[in-house]
Amino acid sequence: MLYLALFGPPGAGKGTQAKKIAEKYRLFHLSTGDILRAEIGNASTLGLLASGIINRGELLSDEVVMALVEHAIETGGDVPGYLLDGFPRTVQQAEMLDAYLQKSGERGLAGLLSIEVDKEEVTRRMLKRASLEGRVDDTEEVIRNRFAEYEMKTLPVENYYRERGKCFAVNGNRAVEEVFQSLVSIIDTIR
Ligand code: AMP
Repeated sequence: MLYLALFGPPGAGKGTQAKKIAEKYRLFHLSTGDILRAEIGNASTLGLLASGIINRGELLSDEVVMALVEHAIETGGDVPGYLLDGFPRTVQQAEMLDAYLQKSGERGLAGLLSIEVDKEEVTRRMLKRASLEGRVDDTEEVIRNRFAEYEMKTLPVENYYRERGKCFAVNGNRAVEEVFQSLVSIIDTIR
């Protein structure tokens, strides 16, 4: 089973690239943000808990998110692998994922694919997305908060995998197709 994770700041284009990669390699696209938005849409208990946290641009607890990921993997059906999008977002989530994959007899995450983008560029993209999609967590104040959370809690995840020789970075300040081709070359090497 192939496990890959897409990594990058909010607005780096993870969602767009994830859809293209999942389609090309027939992977299950596991986006924790999408799962949470679906829970909010269903007004489930988890959705109600999640909406306040997401609207403030904060992160959900590691335990809750890990439980969602495990459930998605265990009900994912017959797929050759998973493309994780928006997870792991903290070092603790990375440790929990490693422990889970080890327990499941899997070889672990093949790679963290890091999309590197300038801060000004991602802010511009997110404000544009806010006006196009009307995402409630794309207002300027929430965007600032999501960045702060990213820099404090999520960036260390990159180091965690770099130390293990599993971090692969691409320049995300380019057209969608060019970024995609760089990701494809990496995946073809490591899978
Ligand atoms: P995303 O669509 O990946 O940007 O996620 C939207 C929001 O969902 C984030 O700003 C967080 O509030 C929450 N979220 C998504 N994934 C995670 C995660 N792995 N850990 C904690 N919170 C998450």
